[in-house]
Amino acid sequence: MSAKNFLEEIIEADLKSGRHQRIVTRFPPEPNGYLHIGHAKSIHLNFGLADKYGGITNLRFDDTNPTTEETEYVESIKRDIRWLGYEWENEFYASDYFERLYEFAEKLIRKGLAYVDDSTSEEIAAMKGTPTSPGINSPYRNRSVEENLDLFRRMRAGEFPDGMRVLRAKIDMASPNMHLRDPVMYRIKHEAHHRTGTDWCIYPMYDFAHGQCDSLEGITHSICTMEFEVHRPLYEWFIEQLEIFPSRQYEFARLNLSYTVLSKRKLLQLVNEGHVSGWDDPRMPTLSGLRRRGYTPEAIREFCERIGVARRDNVVDVGLLEYCIREDLNRRAQRRMVVLSPLKLILTNYPEGQTEWLPLENNPEDASAGMREVPFSRELYMEQEDFMEMPVKGFLRMAPGRLVRLKGAYVVRCDDVVKDEKGAVVAVRATYLPETRSGGASEVKVKSTLHWVCAAHAVPVKVLLYDRLFQVEHPAAQDEPLHTLLNPQSLAIVEQAMAEPSLRQAAPGEYFQFLRKGYFTPDLTTTPDRPVFNRTVTLKDHWAAKQPAGAGS
Ligand code: ATP
Ligand code: MG
Repeated sequence: MSAKNFLEEIIEADLKSGRHQRIVTRFPPEPNGYLHIGHAKSIHLNFGLADKYGGITNLRFDDTNPTTEETEYVESIKRDIRWLGYEWENEFYASDYFERLYEFAEKLIRKGLAYVDDSTSEEIAAMKGTPTSPGINSPYRNRSVEENLDLFRRMRAGEFPDGMRVLRAKIDMASPNMHLRDPVMYRIKHEAHHRTGTDWCIYPMYDFAHGQCDSLEGITHSICTMEFEVHRPLYEWFIEQLEIFPSRQYEFARLNLSYTVLSKRKLLQLVNEGHVSGWDDPRMPTLSGLRRRGYTPEAIREFCERIGVARRDNVVDVGLLEYCIREDLNRRAQRRMVVLSPLKLILTNYPEGQTEWLPLENNPEDASAGMREVPFSRELYMEQEDFMEMPVKGFLRMAPGRLVRLKGAYVVRCDDVVKDEKGAVVAVRATYLPETRSGGASEVKVKSTLHWVCAAHAVPVKVLLYDRLFQVEHPAAQDEPLHTLLNPQSLAIVEQAMAEPSLRQAAPGEYFQFLRKGYFTPDLTTTPDRPVFNRTVTLKDHWAAKQPAGAGS
């Protein structure tokens, strides 16, 4: 058991004191983009806390801004949360509460705590003051309750154009907290909303919507990221003045990840400028991108568990995410042989026309994964990089005169090469040692074991090799345009790799380790006629190696 985080401490205290009998959390995405790994942290936290303490979690779409929100995003968000392994108790929309929020606003007007302001947004900004100097009261601040009610109703009725008037809370223009300097509650926007259509032409601001929605749902712990800390006094002010259920807001540090941007605005920019193929491009940190790339929900949840929750800002090494998926795939991925850069290997003493079906383990980490049979015959493919005609020092793989083992098959001795007219090696010729068949008692020692694929049975496949999308460690902190920070080598395409035949039928959602090459998963575009694989992650672990002894696993 790891130590409790600060939110667990708070919740346990609330349950113990009887402040709450049952906790209710919510996950409140704005449907203006796809969920990313940062959202996974928030999902894992909100759903995880409710699970742990026998509470519930609502999914609430924070759809108070009609301009940027779309139904496509709503659907993708629901799919991604379910894929991560969570199910919400209720599905709500901030827009479900527009009428209630409107009533709350009238209530504040009647209490003399809100007023309609005819100032332009520039005038309002100018009167706000600065963090070190107080603002000044708007000339409209002392309108009567009747006049305010009349104007606010006419705002709702659509009598005024966009921007002509706003409704503001009447708090304190000299408050040291800028958010308490008569914040805007409602603005006029003659714009259709993805759910309420043209029913409304005034829309509540985030600060007037969020806490009130929490309260209406009986949210006990409203967990958000640190930038909302300064909004908390306003969150509490509205709830107190409206005398409604006292939801409380708690903040935690958002996830920042090296070599990654986690802002929907920036991710949308990558999509719109065509730097990636879409929100689900396998290089994107979106959940749909990670899923397509071959990440498992278990690995993402493990990652969220390991990063923990705190209030201090930091940047998590993307290597930790890669470590988590490697660990998970090592346990579950089926082993297969695929030659990415094929070189013919001819076993000159192997009978022509003969094929053996050799048993290979599907996963040495998991005996229940069983065995498969892999064809072997006279002509094979091996990896070009596994051969050197004149081996450099330290190269232990195949070279003329050398013995190497072919995985699950035989030891072979390299005899000579076949070259084309330009002198390039087009085939390697070798002799196989029949007595060295894998599983037998042969004592022949070799320095390396290579993967291979039987030429006659090989399935040509397309393989997409991904690297980090950004070449700088902290792309979010840079001022330069995003596209100048991209890694030009983030995608390498292998048009014709050679795979063992069992991979022809592989489907998305299956996970493989291509021996010695990394972890791979079929892409969404794969078909039996044209199999396409994404590399999820390489086998080399840079992260664990960097950790102090004892840390990491
Ligand atoms: P973005 O800046 O990417 O647009 P957002 O905060 O505007 O993110 P929302 O849809 O409003 O996105 O977020 C839904 C929930 O997810 C919020 O509670 C938000 O605090 C949380 N969240 C968003 N990004 C992160 C992150 N990087 N780490 C942790 N939580 C996050
Ligand atoms: Mg937001």
